[in-house]
Amino acid sequence: MKDLNISRRNFISGTAAGSVLLGAPAILSAATLTGGAVGQIKTPMTNGSMTVTEFKNTKIHSYVSPNLTGCVTTHIIETPERLIIVDGQRSVIFGQEIRDYAEKIGKPIDRMIVSHLHPDHWFGAYQFRDVPIYSLESTQGEIDQLGDFFIEISKPSLGKHVPVEKVVPDTLIADGSSETIDGVTLEYRHVTDAESDNMLTIFLKDEKVLIAQDLLYNNCHLFCGHGNFQGWQASLKAMRDDTSFDLVLPGHGENTGSRQAIDDALIYLEFVENTFNKVKTGDELKAAIMERYPSYLAAGLVDIQNLFLFPEK
Ligand SMILES: [Zn+2]
Repeated sequence: MKDLNISRRNFISGTAAGSVLLGAPAILSAATLTGGAVGQIKTPMTNGSMTVTEFKNTKIHSYVSPNLTGCVTTHIIETPERLIIVDGQRSVIFGQEIRDYAEKIGKPIDRMIVSHLHPDHWFGAYQFRDVPIYSLESTQGEIDQLGDFFIEISKPSLGKHVPVEKVVPDTLIADGSSETIDGVTLEYRHVTDAESDNMLTIFLKDEKVLIAQDLLYNNCHLFCGHGNFQGWQASLKAMRDDTSFDLVLPGHGENTGSRQAIDDALIYLEFVENTFNKVKTGDELKAAIMERYPSYLAAGLVDIQNLFLFPEK
């Protein structure tokens, strides 16, 4: 397996900052429907919220966690006969909330797909450890290598939200592959050097939906800890030029599906990159980001990001 760009030392230095993530759970504001879907309904849940987007033969149920764990999304693709779950949350408690919701739909859970390495997308997969868990081969290797470490450094700040052990994806997805499940076609794409070094996006061609996960955030602070500013912006520009989808689903923030989030992300990344090149400390960078984006959620991600961008601090 190739060496990871993120060093273990950087992760270790992150232990102290976990407490900044604590905050009151938030219910996000009402969704605004865009694109070609039939309809969209949002429902608050005990912890997070669920927005259901309805298509002709398919529904996508999009869960957004409380701000405590960074407003991270899980999408449940409901085909006529089964459920496909995309990403597993940073919390086993929120993972269980999604599991309970999925069970009530009354269709078998076919699989979970994990989009990338970051633990906010697979800690809660522990509540789905009895179903096949799919990922890119690179992501499987990254979680196998770093999973235990993520769990240990997260315990002080997240406690009962953290799984007792890692769940490593057991089934591989190849870049460029596609499959049709109950008439719903999923096309898998491997994106590199963006929010994470290896990321999966899923294109539902008939529904004209791109599940972008952490290539895109909606009204949340983007995690720039890998420093892949140029690569990420290039991916977003390619996404902006791609007219094959109407709705694009984010990895953080409410699922409005709006393509506007692509432009928002490009502006945010350019701002953070330029500011990062000017400032000397993480505190300076954070202050500038907070001044420019005072209403954005998931501010805890800025603190985690700074541990990687300023590893000596
Ligand atoms: Zn994330």
